[in-house]
Amino acid sequence: MSAKVLVESGLDAARAIYRQTVLAGDGWCGEVQAGQTFRIVDLHGNQAADTLFYNARDYADRYSAQRTIREQGGIYLTTGTRLYTERGSVLMTIVADTCGRHDTLGGACAMESNMVRYALDKRHMHACRNTFLKVTREWGRGLEKRDITSNINFFMNVPVTPEGKLTFEDGVSDAGKYVEMKAEMDTLVVISNCPQLNNPCNAYNPTPIEVLIWGR
Ligand SMILES: [Zn+2]
Repeated sequence: MSAKVLVESGLDAARAIYRQTVLAGDGWCGEVQAGQTFRIVDLHGNQAADTLFYNARDYADRYSAQRTIREQGGIYLTTGTRLYTERGSVLMTIVADTCGRHDTLGGACAMESNMVRYALDKRHMHACRNTFLKVTREWGRGLEKRDITSNINFFMNVPVTPEGKLTFEDGVSDAGKYVEMKAEMDTLVVISNCPQLNNPCNAYNPTPIEVLIWGR
């Protein structure tokens, strides 16, 4: 595991052009223009913000976990990580990070994975995939189920063991920690503020996040 490098932002929240709290279990969707800065704040700590990214001009060109991992030669995301699309464009660069580590291997929770991972009677529980479907349907503009592919789990701690297993662990984040990205191109961002009640990544207690945008 590489050492955590925490980098704070010089931006003032009072100068943001957009601020929105996203409640636990809710979603958020919006465009961040090239040159703008986008921040997600873990307001109460130990939350997981499951996030999808798309080239805002062509949703078929979307965030690729595989390409992002390959290009940086590492599995955890933090300051300096460039978020690549499947076709090799850079959507955003992480420019500040007070949490230190984010997952892009674990995927988003779904009713199906809740049943397999936890229990059959967890099927009815709300999951990130439901939120992604709801938010993308509301956004429209041709986004649909097949466009929901690999995501980033901001603030989520999914260490890989020496044996190569993924484990979901207690969060490494804390109240007020944030991750900040500069948009390198016009980017559509879709967030599911994870409603998960069955794993320790959010201490079994989903909480709100805040989304902020600063102008160029
Ligand atoms: Zn989830």
